[in-house]
Amino acid sequence: MALKIDRNICTSCGDCEPKCPTKSIKPFKGAYKIVEDTCTECEGEFDEPQCLKVCMEDGCIEYV
Ligand code: SF4
Ligand code: SF4
Repeated sequence: MALKIDRNICTSCGDCEPKCPTKSIKPFKGAYKIVEDTCTECEGEFDEPQCLKVCMEDGCIEYV
């Protein structure tokens, strides 16, 4: 269970990176990526994925 970032939509604003409770968001090839192995979908910490909540770009972050 994880979310993913579409690098073609990501503007590299960096807003999502500090919001991730599991530090699963990393700079990658000029944009950002989510490390699937550690992304928990924020379960147990927040009632919704914090990266999805903060990202302003439609369709940029989606469930895998
Ligand atoms: S869903 Fe939560 S744990 Fe997964 S990358 Fe987004 S902020 Fe991090
Ligand atoms: S908040 Fe959205 S646009 Fe900004 S770096 Fe994260 S995924 Fe990319």
